[in-house]
Amino acid sequence: MNLSPRRTAWSLTVALLPVPLLALLPGTLLGASGAAQQVAMKVIPVQGNVYMLQTPAAGGNVGVLPGPDGVLLVDDQVPNLVQSVLEGVRAITDEEIRFVINTHVHIDHYGGNEVMADLGATILAHENVRKKMFRGHHAPRNGGSYGAQPPEGARQILTFSDAVTFYMNGEEVRVFLVPRAHTDGDSYVYFVDSDVLHTGDVFRTNMYPIIDVYNGGSVAGIIAATETAIALSGPNTKVIPGHGEGFTDRDGLIEVLDMTVDIRDTITEMIASGMRLEEVLAARPTAKYDEKWGQVSSWNAKDIVPIFYYEAGGGPSNVPRRGGN
Ligand SMILES: [Zn+2]
Repeated sequence: MNLSPRRTAWSLTVALLPVPLLALLPGTLLGASGAAQQVAMKVIPVQGNVYMLQTPAAGGNVGVLPGPDGVLLVDDQVPNLVQSVLEGVRAITDEEIRFVINTHVHIDHYGGNEVMADLGATILAHENVRKKMFRGHHAPRNGGSYGAQPPEGARQILTFSDAVTFYMNGEEVRVFLVPRAHTDGDSYVYFVDSDVLHTGDVFRTNMYPIIDVYNGGSVAGIIAATETAIALSGPNTKVIPGHGEGFTDRDGLIEVLDMTVDIRDTITEMIASGMRLEEVLAARPTAKYDEKWGQVSSWNAKDIVPIFYYEAGGGPSNVPRRGGN
């Protein structure tokens, strides 16, 4: 199968460059051909055999395992950037895209599925992800929004209940369900030999954790799943976040875990002292983190504090808890 019918002179040149140089190329070069909506996809070597594709324009970070057994992708971006993803893969390898793993049910991680499937790729995800492909989507950003039911061609044709492992391109690739965190169908993808972990949106480095309560997410799960990632990570592990620039490591995970636990504990104490939601919001329990993590208008303190508040037991008519009752 030939996946690169529109190969151009510049992409041939890119393919011949040493890999570290790819990450330095100006984005306009990597995105220089294709549809009007195509934007730059930065190609970043992560570690060992694993690469990532990234653009600040939109969508989740894509993991790439190239090699003679075919390409394995982790997530495939929003629909209108699928050509950019293909160009990014072509900058790494000429091998066909054989598998795409969707880490969860959001369209900025499965939006390329239909095109990838048409090209012959096998799309897989946790069974809870596929179940949600048969209905319209309810997303948490901007106070809640709705999207259309995904097209039939975007559905995963292979699912798993707990875990599945690939052995290809000299790499062991473990895909496994984590606690209900961002959604109720979040998978981590761990490249054992390269020691690279793709967390999907359980973990992100560009804003507060997104807890999609419409799709089964929870604060407790974010904490538990982040602890899972930390336990799995060693000093040399590289971590690809669902969103956020570049990649990070175990310390990056620990920073977000500590923040999340601190916010949870602070709000839990506020509830215990009898504060209502309006009072908790006014007290700004996230104040010391807002400058770094709360600058995205569609998802900041006003969005996460109520989720923490209700999950920690706060209610609309919260009253002080007294001992002995
Ligand atoms: Zn997501």
